[in-house]
Amino acid sequence: MASTDLSQTVADMRRYYNSGETRPVSFRIEQLRKLKSMIRSHEDEIIQALHNDLKKPPFESYASEIGIMYVEIEHAIRHVKSWSRPKRVATPIIHFLSSSRIYQEPYGVVLIIGPWNYPFNLLIAPLVGAMAAGNCVVIKPSELASDMSKTFSGLISKYFHPDYICALEGGAEISQQLLAEKFDYMFYTGSTVVGRVVMEAAARSLTPVTLELGGKSPCIVDEDASLDYAVKRIAWGKFFNAGQTCIAPDYCLVHSAIKDVFLEKMKKTIQDFYGDDPMQSLDYARIVNERHFQRLTRLLGDGNIIVGGKMDSANLYIAPTLIDRVSLQDSIMQEEIFGPLLPIMTFDRLDQAIDMVNRLPRPLALYYFSNNASNQQDILTKTSFGGGCINDTISHIGSLTLPFGGIGDSGIGAYHGRMSFGTFSHSKGILTRSNLIDMPLRYPPYGNKVNLLKRLFRVIG
Ligand code: NAD
Repeated sequence: MASTDLSQTVADMRRYYNSGETRPVSFRIEQLRKLKSMIRSHEDEIIQALHNDLKKPPFESYASEIGIMYVEIEHAIRHVKSWSRPKRVATPIIHFLSSSRIYQEPYGVVLIIGPWNYPFNLLIAPLVGAMAAGNCVVIKPSELASDMSKTFSGLISKYFHPDYICALEGGAEISQQLLAEKFDYMFYTGSTVVGRVVMEAAARSLTPVTLELGGKSPCIVDEDASLDYAVKRIAWGKFFNAGQTCIAPDYCLVHSAIKDVFLEKMKKTIQDFYGDDPMQSLDYARIVNERHFQRLTRLLGDGNIIVGGKMDSANLYIAPTLIDRVSLQDSIMQEEIFGPLLPIMTFDRLDQAIDMVNRLPRPLALYYFSNNASNQQDILTKTSFGGGCINDTISHIGSLTLPFGGIGDSGIGAYHGRMSFGTFSHSKGILTRSNLIDMPLRYPPYGNKVNLLKRLFRVIG
């Protein structure tokens, strides 16, 4: 797309936004209902596109990209009226006879850039927040999930006025062109490397951003963990979408006393889930493309493969794989794996595990398996990460009452539920002063009013 066309698109959207059309709550609810019915009417196409791009099993597509979106949209429809209402807050005594309110104002024209791994969910979820808040939205799907990019853009243009919501297809070039435009908010999901590019562009135009990035999310399994549950929950969270989940357990730290049993149970669980040959399983996805397949095969060189390791480049298949004898220096521990390879390391004391986690950049998620409440507290207070679970993996993403986002290298900002609305709204604080009286203390000439002021602050401060 020529950059003049793109500038024109953004200018048209800004004109539409300035018309005030998107402001009434009734408009927002109507459009959110339309979004829900768009998904309802095209579930099969969405599932097909996800299958074409990633061979996503329909169960995984429905659970993680469709069903969960209905819940997000319905929650916004139900609450947008109260979210948008000005909130009366306390007024300090120095502003005697005044009132204070916080008004929620849409940012204006916002940009959402999405990744390929959950190429529907990660566009719709922020879009719901942006619509509920009353913005106009430009969306850039990932070119790597090309079928979804086409399907998504087609649906958006069929259901929404182009000046209100538009999807622009393309790769890094179109993304860069978009980043050069003046938006009122940018919401980016993807790698940490590109997150830096987005933040640099945002700094140039002083645009507020949310960065939903990745990282190496640890999974710590302690000596007293309920292992039968733990192995299922870890294998599920790791091999869902063939490990291409931003919050998938990246590596396991297992207490040395239970490591052998853990590995045995993991081996059996993988077999129970995907059979003797996971390549034949319809419940196991594929790697998104050749480049990521090659990247993952290079990481297989480290440690000792104890389960899996089988690959088929023609099918972009990599088996669910457990790797033993890995060290922090190995290349598999230098980058986010983002695939079905699970390195296992051990610890003898919890503080060693905490120390290992703290030596790496702050991750997007952390999972801890133990029944000991004091150890659970230790993990929560001595490590820093975006969010996570105790005795489970990845499930926190499905809770609308929990903020979802990273910290440090894994991101800036959070969303889901009420927080998505807050992300795409500016909180405008307004003090309304009474005209009943006018206190003369603050006006010049000040004379010796400073003494009175000091006495006053001694009383109220
Ligand atoms: P990516 O950074 O390669 O691409 C994401 C988007 O950025 C795409 O739309 C792409 O077109 C665009 N892009 C790529 N290069 C660009 C450039 N130079 N300038 C501007 N835009 C550019 O990420 P990805 O490979 O699609 O996603 C994988 C990463 O995303 C992983 O690190 C994963 O952990 C992370 N992720 C995070 C979350 C989250 O919610 N925090 C969710 C999914 C994925």
